This record gives sequence, C-alpha cells and structure tokens, in this order.
Amino acid sequence: MSAVKLPPLQYVAPRSLAQACDLLAADEDAKVLAGGQSLMPLLAIRLSSPSTLIDLAHVPDLVGVDEAGSYVHIRAMTTHQQVIASPIVREYLPFVAEAGAHIAHAQIRSRGTLGGSIAHGDGAAEWPLTVLTLDAMVEVEGVRGRRTIESDDLFVGPYMTSIAPDEIVTDVWIPKKTEGWSFQEIARRAGDYGLALVGVSTETGPDGTCTSARITVGAAAGTVQRVPAAEDSVVGNVLDERTARRAGETARESLSFISDIHGSNNYRGHLVQTLVTRALIEAGARR
Ligand SMILES: Cc1cc2nc3c(=O)[nH]c(=O)nc-3n(C[C@H](O)[C@H](O)[C@H](O)COP(=O)(O)OP(=O)(O)OC[C@H]3O[C@@H](n4cnc5c(N)ncnc54)[C@H](O)[C@@H]3O)c2cc1C
Repeated sequence: MSAVKLPPLQYVAPRSLAQACDLLAADEDAKVLAGGQSLMPLLAIRLSSPSTLIDLAHVPDLVGVDEAGSYVHIRAMTTHQQVIASPIVREYLPFVAEAGAHIAHAQIRSRGTLGGSIAHGDGAAEWPLTVLTLDAMVEVEGVRGRRTIESDDLFVGPYMTSIAPDEIVTDVWIPKKTEGWSFQEIARRAGDYGLALVGVSTETGPDGTCTSARITVGAAAGTVQRVPAAEDSVVGNVLDERTARRAGETARESLSFISDIHGSNNYRGHLVQTLVTRALIEAGARR
C-alpha cells in the first residue's frame, strides 16, 4: 500500500495558546490541527491545502473534564474517548456519553477531539448535535480576545460555523442534564455516519406538562438544526405518545431533507419522524 502524500506545508507546534493564536492570525492560509481525523483525510485528497498546520497537541490546559457548578466543563482537545469515559460526563451528562459512543470506531475516538468536531461543523456529526440539543456554550480565543458563542448561534450551514478563521475553540460548557433527554441515531452500520440523528432535551412541570423543549436534527437535513415548529407543538402539552407523534409529523413537514446514494429525502423524512417520536417518548419517560 502506498503512503498518503500530503500537499507541501509547514508544521508548527506552539507551546502556548497565545503563540498558537499569533501564528493563526499571522497567516490566513494556516489551519489548526487537533486530532487530524477530519483534516488529514481532507489534505490527503486535496480538498484542503493550508500553508501551515498549527498543532495544538503541545498547548497546555486544553485537555480535561471538570464539574463547574451547574455545568460540565470540557476542554477542546479532550478526545471523544476521554469525553465518553469521563465519570463526570457519565454522571451528569448521560446524553453525551450515549451520543459519543456512536462516533466512528475506537481508533478515531481515541484521536479525534470535541473541539475539532465542533469547529469542523459536520451536520452529520454527533458532537454538534449534542452541543445544540443541550444548549452548551463554546469558548473561543484569538488575538482579538476571548468570547463565548451560544449553541444557537454556532452552526450556520453545512461545515460552516460562526467561529472566525483566526479563533481557536478552547472550552465547552454543557449544562448538567440527567432527566428529560434522548439521543437517537440510525446508521447503516455501527460506526458509520448516521442517516438521521435526533436529540431531545425537555423540562416538565409536576403534572407532566412540558415547559420547554429542544428538538434537534442532524445528518438528514444538511446542517444540524433545531426544529422550532416541533418544539412549539410539544410545549404546554403532556409529554405522552400523542404529543410525541404529532411532533414527529411536524418535524417531517417543516424540514427539507437531503437525498444521496444512502437514502432518499423521503426515507430521511420518515426516519426523522420516527426518531423524533421515539425520542420524545423516551425523554418523557426520563422526567
Ligand atoms: C473514517 C472516519 C469516520 C468518522 N466517523 C465519524 C462519525 O461517525 N461521527 C463523527 O462525529 N465524526 C466522525 N469522524 C470525524 C472525527 O470525529 C473527527 O475527529 C472530528 O470530526 C474532528 O476532530 P479532530 O480533533 O480530529 O479535528 P481535526 O481533523 O484536527 O480538525 C478538523 C477541523 O477543525 C479545525 N479545528 C480543530 N480543532 C480546532 C480548535 N480547537 N479550534 C478551531 N479549529 C479547530 C481544523 O483546523 C480543521 O479545519 C470520522 C472520521 C473518520 C476518518
């Protein structure tokens, strides 16, 4: 087997975040390298040809999971596997542990990072959907300073985020959530990207009436996105099977689905309807 040949490029391994930000700001054709699990294949097939790779592997304080009041704080270079295996994540964010287990295979989970997946912004990836469902905040830093991006403002199109080219994702803050959640995915084989992903996060009053809902769809409709019409159909109603079925129908009616060799738009619409219904029933049972 012949070795993969990368396009000619410079490689730098900064020892501080400030240095990494300076390098990124100084060259608009430079790119940050995290786990390399999306970027290296793109380089190999020449879909990306940066002048310089700025490797974050030696930048301190970018790995780890901590409890921070009502949030779980995950640093950007924490690998998928470290996130999934974290006892803090398992206790306070079962959604994250379940969704992360669907990412690719063990080899990819052991190198790919949370920050890399968010920055890449693939609408079929599990972490963008997770961040959006759980209303997380993403912190970024660049030479112009540090800022926090709300999940609702983060994913603006397929592979497009509101993270500026000179900004580096450093931290993710996810509100603790142990009740009223569900993650659903249908893929052709275990480890494949899903044909449809659905996330649900709900709050309910003592009588079972839903007081707030976030319903998200990934893979099936291009960009990862919330489904406001389906959320509106749930809030104010008891989270039972009837409500769940209506929301599933509403989700199908209100989105435009993609077609490709793996499935037609009609099939993806059917999957989303089924998964939204299933997710709401499961979230209702977990309240
Ligand atoms: C065969 C295969 C199957 C896969 N299947 C799945 C799957 O089922 N589900 C899934 O979710 N993913 C899947 N992936 C992708 C994988 O999860 C990647 O790890 C992830 O998308 C990117 O993370 P990374 O750390 O490897 O980022 P990299 O590949 O290093 O970088 C990706 C992009 O993000 C930018 N970037 C990286 N880190 C930062 C940062 N901190 N700040 C700003 N920009 C940054 C880079 O410049 C680059 O543009 C698969 C990958 C492969 C090779």
